[in-house]
Amino acid sequence: MKHSIDQETVGPFAEPMASAIEACVHCGFCLPACPTYNVLGQEADSPRGRIVLMKQVLEGELDEQDIAPHIDRCLGCLACESACPSGVPYRDLISPFRSRNSVKKSFLVRLRDKLISLTLPFPGRFRWALRLASCSRFLAFLLPGPFRPMAELVPKKIPSYQPLKDRYPAKGEKRCQVALLAGCAQQVLAPKINQFTIELLTEYGVEVVVPGNQSCCGALDWHNGGLKQARKLAENNLSVFPADVDWIVTNAAGCGSGMKEYGVLFEGTDHQSEAKKIADKTIDVSVLLSQLDFSKRAVGRPQPKTLRVAYHDACHLSHGQHVRSQPRALLQSIPGIELLGINNTEMCCGSAGTFNIDQPEIANQLGQSKAQAIADSGAEFLVTGNIGCIVQIQNHLQKLGSPIKVMHLVEFLSRHSSLA
Ligand code: SF4
Ligand code: SF4
Repeated sequence: MKHSIDQETVGPFAEPMASAIEACVHCGFCLPACPTYNVLGQEADSPRGRIVLMKQVLEGELDEQDIAPHIDRCLGCLACESACPSGVPYRDLISPFRSRNSVKKSFLVRLRDKLISLTLPFPGRFRWALRLASCSRFLAFLLPGPFRPMAELVPKKIPSYQPLKDRYPAKGEKRCQVALLAGCAQQVLAPKINQFTIELLTEYGVEVVVPGNQSCCGALDWHNGGLKQARKLAENNLSVFPADVDWIVTNAAGCGSGMKEYGVLFEGTDHQSEAKKIADKTIDVSVLLSQLDFSKRAVGRPQPKTLRVAYHDACHLSHGQHVRSQPRALLQSIPGIELLGINNTEMCCGSAGTFNIDQPEIANQLGQSKAQAIADSGAEFLVTGNIGCIVQIQNHLQKLGSPIKVMHLVEFLSRHSSLA
């Protein structure tokens, strides 16, 4: 089977893609875990269905255009990987497949995608685009169809720019040195997440450096088929992130997962081994805080009253990086926290990069279900580790009229005693 894939269309990705396809035994255990299969109920919109369709395209039996709607509807949430008993590495298949970029899209969709690719990964441009969109909010009804979901996502208030210093020394004895990936959209939508991350880490004896000329991690482009730009952005990061730091810390699930995929992104290039080293050094802030015994700080600071908290698993933390227990353990280490479960917790909230712009109907259904499950949990606070999930869940909780406050884990860990 490996040899029947047309090597020319997938280049250096042929081998990992063929291995992923070959590993699937078509058992169907992944189907109930897949958000689009849950919403649409069709085999072609399931992981197993998509694997078969991609295989047929790669072997020249099907035209890519015919299967494009099913591939476009994949959130890239990787829930299928977690559910798969055969260990099919779905991520090795979907992004390389999309990077072939041979599907014809309408002019407006191409224009919208180009606009996203030229603004969202660049904080300065993204901030200006949001300001412009915010000022012309009343004209949103004039936007053509593919652009309308973007208008809904423009926040009412855009936080002011908060520049970061190059270096933040550790408080007390220095235990390690890390470099922080500042993120692109997150820096603009919620700059306080980086501030809280730096405060927590330095308090734990971590020196934090923030390479000033770093780029977006490239995940947004990589997951949307923009291989060239993803590599360009990531290549810059390979050159500016110091090789001698102990860790590269991320505080957005999608970015962390994206950096951990650098080895695949640079498959077959001269940068591959360097990219793998960066991927191995990448760590989510919750995992590092767990290693730094955060619980010792929390003990001795009793809560004035019990806070009911639910934790939402961002897909690119749980499925993408297998980080589930550490954020929960950090929350449980705070006295007076009641940690509540959310029904169907492993199901995506529908944010998934730009999915809520590209596939607004499915994203809305998933967002509504997630918001309802959170409201049913009885929580006062919803804590998570990804800016995309924060925006999506906040929007849908507001639509439900729920008063639940949504915040990033580092914000909750920093502010919990003032929240009670
Ligand atoms: S669970 Fe794994 S092996 Fe089974 S159909 Fe899904 S991807 Fe294939
Ligand atoms: S990545 Fe998510 S949406 Fe795509 S096939 Fe897997 S489970 Fe379904």
